[in-house]
Amino acid sequence: MKVRVSDVKKWAGREERISLSEPWPEIIKERLEAEMEQPARVHVVVRNVTSGLLVEVSGEGYVHVPCSRCLEDARLTLAFSDSQEFREESGPQDPTLDYERFIGDHIILDAMVADAVALELPLVPVCRAECRGLCPQCGVNRNRDECSCQVLTESRWDLLKTWRASPDTRDNHTVESEQR
Ligand SMILES: [Zn+2]
Ligand SMILES: [Zn+2]
Repeated sequence: MKVRVSDVKKWAGREERISLSEPWPEIIKERLEAEMEQPARVHVVVRNVTSGLLVEVSGEGYVHVPCSRCLEDARLTLAFSDSQEFREESGPQDPTLDYERFIGDHIILDAMVADAVALELPLVPVCRAECRGLCPQCGVNRNRDECSCQVLTESRWDLLKTWRASPDTRDNHTVESEQR
């Protein structure tokens, strides 16, 4: 994934907007440990800020990961954006600098896009906010099925809620024995 910058790099103040629609960079699989839905639609703005080229990327992608509650396939929308300055300089990338280097007429966006997308992947992905997950006792998917353990599980939650809501009237003994 790259943008041509042969014109924009010639004049300070010049700005170009480019819309890309192409396969996601390969490295995104390693970053996410999951597959993005193809294609990648990325909006790119390149601005000549005299010291270098300020590149902004933004867009929305869809990824499939297992829901952390019910383990079913969850399709998540990842809205990402990032900006980074690039300067035309020779030499390897140097993480101590606050800009990236490039040479020639193109800037490669693979790492920048992959990092921006990976940042948006939640640590605990869920298929939907109200997902009821698996029953911790019998393993039934509680979005689809009821099980007889349910009453016990819910009364335990109610107990915890009461305990949190009114600390003065809580019954420590009951809560502790329920948690054991
Ligand atoms: Zn779920
Ligand atoms: Zn159950």
